[in-house]
Amino acid sequence: MATNGTVKGAEPLDFTKFQNVINGKLVDTKETRRTVNPSTFEELYPVPVSTQADIDEAIEVAKKAQESWANVPWAERQQAVKNYADALEALSEDFAKQLTTEQGKPKMFAQAELGDAVKWLRQLSDFPEPEDVIQDDDKKKVITRYTPLGVAVGIVPWNFPIQLAAGKIGAALVTGNAFILKPSPFTPYGGLKLAELAQRFFPPGVFQALSGDDNLGPWLTAHPGVDKVSFTGSTATGKKVMESCAKTLKRVTLELGGNDPAIICADVNPAEVAPAVAFMALLNSGQICIAIKRIYIHESVYDEVVKAMVEFVKTVKVGDGHEEGNLLGPINNKLQFDRVKDLIADIEKTQLNLAVGTTKNDGEKGYFIQPTIVANPPEDSRIVVDEPFGPVFPVLKWSDEDDVVKRANNTDMGLGASVWSRNLDEAERIGRRLKAGNVWVNSHGEVQPNAPFGGHKQSGIGYEWGVWL
Ligand code: NAD
Repeated sequence: MATNGTVKGAEPLDFTKFQNVINGKLVDTKETRRTVNPSTFEELYPVPVSTQADIDEAIEVAKKAQESWANVPWAERQQAVKNYADALEALSEDFAKQLTTEQGKPKMFAQAELGDAVKWLRQLSDFPEPEDVIQDDDKKKVITRYTPLGVAVGIVPWNFPIQLAAGKIGAALVTGNAFILKPSPFTPYGGLKLAELAQRFFPPGVFQALSGDDNLGPWLTAHPGVDKVSFTGSTATGKKVMESCAKTLKRVTLELGGNDPAIICADVNPAEVAPAVAFMALLNSGQICIAIKRIYIHESVYDEVVKAMVEFVKTVKVGDGHEEGNLLGPINNKLQFDRVKDLIADIEKTQLNLAVGTTKNDGEKGYFIQPTIVANPPEDSRIVVDEPFGPVFPVLKWSDEDDVVKRANNTDMGLGASVWSRNLDEAERIGRRLKAGNVWVNSHGEVQPNAPFGGHKQSGIGYEWGVWL
């Protein structure tokens, strides 16, 4: 904070002009592109389309900047990230408004995402400098040091473009790396502004951002000047990223897709649990890696729980995130909208039963999909097997614990899972059998910056956040 009570470096940013950030400067590119507001199809401002030359320049600059940044004491690097977090907090209303415009999520959730981004930056800059003393006696001293990797690239998806970027930014910068952010082509605006704001707190070249088309990600992962890629996105792309990084043995962290089960036990209170579980399946219009994607309900409470879920879903309003009262916004982009529609067409074709919702979503005035519950579909149907990444989810019955654990684990994914029960011992017993990076009891998707987050199986490699050495 500056002495007059205003936050240092928090002068407003211009949210009508969007440029790459290279070597501390805002840089235009010859070619530009635009995305649309997914609620209205209104064309948004032009953003840069980076060339190979832009990337070469940014990486060259990052390499030099990183050498000096790594010599800045840990405490000073922590302080710089904290000051940056303070400025982001002061400007969070502007960032949140932009987030709703480009991503679609309702205003209150955009504000919450900004709050989380600030929280993540702050907490990631609280960790002490790690050093393990293995032996320190009169014979010898043996220590494990954790040194910066060099130039780190953060590739983020479009569902939580600010929070997911913040997690990568905080971790990379505190630990002495230079960082290049590559936002998704569907949500490039906020990411570019995150980097622009950062120029007030970090030396030139320490934090840069490049926007571009579909060439940009592959160019970055292939570049020999990059030492580390932290990727969040789909499993299919994650495999390509790993393959590309393998050529120069870059370090990779992969945070990928999920197909999270929630197991609801016989002793739950349906009135409490049903809306909570349905909410975690629908939040962000289902576009969350750790959204609940399959709900296994004990047969003795199946009817009651589904009924309470249907009642809740009927209260959910879908629409433009800038308008008050909407709980769900649109699907973020046409590609994903078409994928969800394809899955819904399969539900219709295979004549599955809907507990609530519709298979008709026109998408004429925005990429809106009505929340839909599919009642007791076969275990091998696409709505159970695929990651919908939309507000459509199946409810299934179970009666035998071994059987439901087997079904919950019967997937290549292993991101999150949850068990819902009044009996915490029972819930924990079942939870410990689930193969997932995060398992929750009576909650789902509750992440925090000081707890490592990551996926088992094809949901990822490595962990983000927390301290995972
Ligand atoms: P995506 O894989 O299509 O894209 C993610 C990012 O990768 C984008 O920035 C994209 O431009 C870039 N990219 C695309 N092709 C690339 C390539 N060949 N090389 C390098 N980069 C490339 O994913 P998406 O559609 O943006 O996001 C949705 C997916 O992300 C879902 O599967 C979701 O589960 C997953 N996700 C995972 C987490 C997690 O933490 N595990 C968090 C959010 C989203």
